[in-house]
Amino acid sequence: MDFEVVIGLEVHVQLNTKTKMFCSCPTSFAERQNKNTCPTCLALPGALPVINEEAVKKAMMFGWAINATINKKSIFNRKNYFYPDLPKGYQISQFEIPIVENGYLYIDKEDGTKRKIGITRAHLEEDAGKNIHETEFSKVDLNRAGTPLLEIVSEPDIRSSEEAVQYLKKLHAIVRYLDISDANMQEGSFRCDANVSIRPKGDDKLYTRVEIKNLNSFRFIQRAIDYEVQRHIEAWEDGIYDDEVVQETRLFDTQKGVTRSMRGKEESADYRYFPDPDLLPLVIPQSFFEETKNIPELPDEKKERFVSEYGIKPYDAALIANSKETAEFFEKMLTFNIDAKNAVTWLTVELAARLNKAGLDITQSPVDAEKLATIVKRIEDKTISGKAAKDVLDYLMEHDITVDEAIEKLGLKQISDASALEPMIDEILAANEDKVAEYKAGKEKLFGFFVGQVMKASRGKADPKLVNELLRKKLS
Ligand code: ADP
Ligand code: MG
Ligand code: ZN
Repeated sequence: MDFEVVIGLEVHVQLNTKTKMFCSCPTSFAERQNKNTCPTCLALPGALPVINEEAVKKAMMFGWAINATINKKSIFNRKNYFYPDLPKGYQISQFEIPIVENGYLYIDKEDGTKRKIGITRAHLEEDAGKNIHETEFSKVDLNRAGTPLLEIVSEPDIRSSEEAVQYLKKLHAIVRYLDISDANMQEGSFRCDANVSIRPKGDDKLYTRVEIKNLNSFRFIQRAIDYEVQRHIEAWEDGIYDDEVVQETRLFDTQKGVTRSMRGKEESADYRYFPDPDLLPLVIPQSFFEETKNIPELPDEKKERFVSEYGIKPYDAALIANSKETAEFFEKMLTFNIDAKNAVTWLTVELAARLNKAGLDITQSPVDAEKLATIVKRIEDKTISGKAAKDVLDYLMEHDITVDEAIEKLGLKQISDASALEPMIDEILAANEDKVAEYKAGKEKLFGFFVGQVMKASRGKADPKLVNELLRKKLS
């Protein structure tokens, strides 16, 4: 039987406001434990929450970005559960009426097409603190308690683990462009839970889903989903689907690459949601709508602009536009008047491979946009060959000198002066009279041999195009 994979993602984005969601404690990271706390986020009796205006505006910006409905009136609820890192015994969240509803975004497929993924809702809530487990005892750090989160819930529209990653990358790019979150996955400012189920192809009902919690890298998300899908399919094929696949919360073991049951899935009734009597409904002032609607250029628009303005391929354009830093790097390169297609290759292939190997991201690149553009420029003005340029880039990944210094140092300057090449070519032709005769008699394959000899004699530095030209002239 053929199966279809059904995935819906819940993403928690930590908003980069200066202060917490309902009090004026700073949200800054790496402070002494429990330093950024006050009666409100410590849940001391009598302390009252006040809604953070900046968090509301940031949620609204996200709403505009995904073409959603922004509810002028929304409601904060108490979501009750007991856990040591939750001092109030409930989390303030939104339930029936979230601030943002009914949006969508497009994911970019590898073949250059795109697919629309619905976003059911995005609501504001507060984060919990952190439990730190030591051998003899556990500690609770409430610095993070009350930090604003935007929880973004997708429709079950995602059809593969690749699409899940494409969706997350697009979402990641959007919140980074909007500058509403640093979206740092390692530090937990962009966390994802994946809801996964399968169904026979053609069936449109939804089958039992499991929720995989706290996935903090794109690679783990993909692997966790793949594992889970396989588990469902095998259970189905072995006739034990109903026993094996139950609605529950699972955790991904990154060491073993498997998911494991953590607990049964709680239903919303378990949380006894009710409107928080300490907070009035959130009614957004009209001025906020004016203030937030002029959002910056987003990845999709940027991609379209790259395609029309620079004539690059849609897939490449999406790849670059989906990262704010990469897009800035790319546009900086183009200010040095180089060919856009060359810029794409040297950025997305050559530099990307080297950064990847060194475990660096674009912001940590030892070769900046100006240097990479200069390398391209030196190929375009024929100072160096494309092959030599790779050596220059390798060298610059390790050494902080200019491109021209590196070319000089490595002795890679291309010989593109006919008067320097002609004597070399004459010598080679004279030394291979027999082959010249064969060539002239019709064995055209030999042309490559002559080119190779000249390149060898010049130790790879001859401009191959010029060598071709000169050889043709001399052999005709
Ligand atoms: P909860 O808040 O209890 O986790 P929701 O109804 O808000 O439940 O759904 C959470 C996520 O699960 C959403 O992203 C939704 O698209 C997804 N989802 C719901 N049903 C399924 C299913 N059968 N298979 C995969 N994903 C699903
Ligand atoms: Mg959930
Ligand atoms: Zn506080």
